[in-house]
Amino acid sequence: MKYFSTNGKAPLASLETAVVQGLAPDRGLYMPERINHVANPLADSLHETACRVAEAYFGEDIPLAELRAMVTDTLSFPIPLVKVKDNVYSLELFHGPTLAFKDVGARFMARMLRHFNRDEQVNVLVATSGDTGSAVANGFLGVEGIRVHVLYPKGKVSKTQEAQFTTLGRNITALEVSGTFDDCQALVKQAFMDDELKRSLRLTSANSINVARLLPQSFYYFHALSQLRRLTDKEAVVSVPSGNFGNLTSGLFGGRMGLPVKRFIAANNRNDVFLEYLRTGHYRPRPSLQTLANAMDVGDPSNFARILALYGNSHEAVTREISGASCTDEQISETMSQCFRETGYLLDPHGACAYRALCEGLCEGEAGVFLETAHPAKFLEVVSERVPEARVEVPERLQAFMRGRKQTVPMSSRYDDFREYLKQSLR
Ligand SMILES: *Cc1c(COP(=O)(O)O)cnc(C)c1O
Repeated sequence: MKYFSTNGKAPLASLETAVVQGLAPDRGLYMPERINHVANPLADSLHETACRVAEAYFGEDIPLAELRAMVTDTLSFPIPLVKVKDNVYSLELFHGPTLAFKDVGARFMARMLRHFNRDEQVNVLVATSGDTGSAVANGFLGVEGIRVHVLYPKGKVSKTQEAQFTTLGRNITALEVSGTFDDCQALVKQAFMDDELKRSLRLTSANSINVARLLPQSFYYFHALSQLRRLTDKEAVVSVPSGNFGNLTSGLFGGRMGLPVKRFIAANNRNDVFLEYLRTGHYRPRPSLQTLANAMDVGDPSNFARILALYGNSHEAVTREISGASCTDEQISETMSQCFRETGYLLDPHGACAYRALCEGLCEGEAGVFLETAHPAKFLEVVSERVPEARVEVPERLQAFMRGRKQTVPMSSRYDDFREYLKQSLR
């Protein structure tokens, strides 16, 4: 299978090139040239469902036995669909090592990168507003031949999130950047445009722009529907808490493969440029605002280009399948508290945005699934302050991170400083 760039000015790339390069040479994002239809995608088990989807994406490029092994390795935890109230179900994506959905893509990507780079040292750069860093760092921890640098905005991620990528050591280095998440993302993007640096250090990206992280996220959409079909035959609506829109994009790809979903809801916090696009047809990126759902604090979502490419740039086509919603911090708090009171289900701030958008947008005859993208214990302070009556259980693997020692390298948001640091430390 070949991959094309959303900017249309780069040659078609092989899967290997797309995965190792991350970003296309014309700075566009790679898209699979075809999205194969899967004849019978809903198997009984997560593993079997995921294998069918994986084969549709990667079957031409990776031997089947190896692909199946990657899927097995990646999905070492369950992804249950849990009923919250009538017609509303939570897809719990937080049962992995770092208790967030990004574990799926990060773990799969680590295994795919190893598959393509058996003999050489590769350097992974990743910008994070919270959960990407921990998922990627843990997904790659101890993987031979791969070094990871995690860039994160100083003081803008929770202590719990921070502990999950600053305490690991070994092949993982955390860079504490004086700036915002967008600054971190800009540093990483600039490094990838820096041909000399990119070549000499064999840089690759693990942001959600990488197809090896993006595409495997389709697995769990099918698993959600396979579980939902056993409970109801109502038409399905899926609500996705969105930041860079990688998660939603992989669901939309699933739709093209035959995922039986009627429509999607893009749930945002106050960083709602996508909602504005849906309403007006104009896309106007803006600086990100800090919110309670901080992994969604993105002012210029990188996967917007992929969504446009998928719908042939047609605003009308986009709005036929996707609606949007935005949620203030007050509404996030209110939703967490109200949902717990009414149903006993404890949401995290990101899931709260999706839950709220779903409850507001669900029509007669529909059943809704929202993606619960992180465990509430990852946002302990926020959650226990807003929902004091809930006893938040902190899973042991999270407590273990909190006991670790923080090791970081301070970094300015100037590209020259970052470049110099990389050249020195990776020589
Ligand atoms: C990253 C993240 C999101 C946003 O996902 P995108 O793919 O960037 O849209 C939502 N919730 C949590 C908990 C996250 O970590």
